[in-house]
Amino acid sequence: MQAIWRNEWIHEYETPWSIFEKLSFANRISRGNIFKFAANSFEKNKNNPKKDERKIDLFSLKSFDETILETIFEVNLVKFTQQSLHSLTIPLHSHRYPVTSWFSKHLRWCSECISYGHHSWLHQFKLLDYCPFHNTKLKETCPKCEMNIPFIFSNRFFGNAFSCKCGFQFADFSNILWENWDTKFKIVDPATLLWLSKTFNFEGIRTLFSPESASLNILSDFHPYVSMKTFTQNNIKILIDDFYYSTQFNKELYNNNVNTFQTVDRYIRKKVLRNHSNCIKQFWQLLKNDGEDFPDICPYAYAYVNWRKTLLKSERFYSSDTRSSVVARSGGRYGYELLTNAITDDIKLLLEEYVLSSKGKHVNKDTLEWIQEQWSYRFSLAFFYDCLNCANDILLYGKKHTDWDKILMSTKANFKIAFKYQEIKGKRDKGINFKMYYENTANTKIPEHRCPNHSLKKKRAISKMKSYLPARIFMDYPKNYELINYVSSYIKKHDY
Ligand SMILES: [Zn+2]
Ligand SMILES: [Zn+2]
Ligand SMILES: [Zn+2]
Repeated sequence: MQAIWRNEWIHEYETPWSIFEKLSFANRISRGNIFKFAANSFEKNKNNPKKDERKIDLFSLKSFDETILETIFEVNLVKFTQQSLHSLTIPLHSHRYPVTSWFSKHLRWCSECISYGHHSWLHQFKLLDYCPFHNTKLKETCPKCEMNIPFIFSNRFFGNAFSCKCGFQFADFSNILWENWDTKFKIVDPATLLWLSKTFNFEGIRTLFSPESASLNILSDFHPYVSMKTFTQNNIKILIDDFYYSTQFNKELYNNNVNTFQTVDRYIRKKVLRNHSNCIKQFWQLLKNDGEDFPDICPYAYAYVNWRKTLLKSERFYSSDTRSSVVARSGGRYGYELLTNAITDDIKLLLEEYVLSSKGKHVNKDTLEWIQEQWSYRFSLAFFYDCLNCANDILLYGKKHTDWDKILMSTKANFKIAFKYQEIKGKRDKGINFKMYYENTANTKIPEHRCPNHSLKKKRAISKMKSYLPARIFMDYPKNYELINYVSSYIKKHDY
């Protein structure tokens, strides 16, 4: 294949995705034909009826023939890619996650970079959510079809060169052709520069974070810690086996998480929503006047009740108990479990990582509880503010625009937390010093929603209302099907 190709079109840390897109554009050759030509013999001999739908891995490029790629690009693309992935993750090599787990499985791109034909592994790197060359937020859903586009070499999700299957063009080169493809950008982000400078060694300081919830920013030396605690060695010690098999430990951790949740819950109700306690009661216990419809729902109460439901993954939004703030304290008897169910797995990853990294030595139980507290407290609060910001929209438009689970995902995406710890070797007291680094870009300003129970008169009226909880109306009005249907459709409308 006599291909139009220039060496200057490949930049440091460039992904094979944009390299192939450039080849495809410059030579007016389809991805399918590139693959037909450059696949290894095993792939070439494969009898695949859905040839055009093949999804080819861009991390290993193992379906390609290394020599053919080298002939086309004058660079060993396989080694070049491995080298990029390796050097971006040098400070992460002691973590138990495989190198690829630090990179997004769907395409993330910078509109500015892509307009020069450039796409970098730094854009795929999960610890960055902005472009280190332009400081702009990375895109990760197609603006036209609103889908995540899998980061693979495939005709199934991509259309013509540099475009999504739906027709959206990441960049339009029809006029300028490859005029600007050799433009080199400088990394301007200080955290990325530091990360790549290889001086990012933690010198005796150990780090604890996961690919999904950390950022280069909070790991940088210049990012201040938010919270710090020193633990002495003489406390209950935990091994990885306790984590999986000790009922005592899991019950305690669960209880500790209940306390954390209740601290956040109290803070929200007493500080943020103190004027809406009646509104919460009204919505939560399905209160209304006899013979009337359910009253308008207060957006603050709506946010609170759904925040709680989504965070704890409760089945219902309404409370079957009139002492509504009560939570189950009996968890953890069958292994690791937290009350704040929506983040149970995220926290587990980190706690396991910590215990495993102690390489068979015991760890202090208090440290695990502290990590749990820090994560649950900050996350629960951040998620509440996100719910509060969207509550009015969901009340007005239903789940058309967003729903509580989507809000949860977005809070998770913005939530960045990491820990650094260090052993203290004093003469008498040996211990361990923990620092927590945190960044939350969510908006914590309390939005101005209209509360339907603003007046004292309305507030008082709520205390005279009756509860229409299903269990109760089935008992009190067993034959009143109109009422039963009305209540269940009201519940159905708000319970998703
Ligand atoms: Zn950029
Ligand atoms: Zn699209
Ligand atoms: Zn209210």
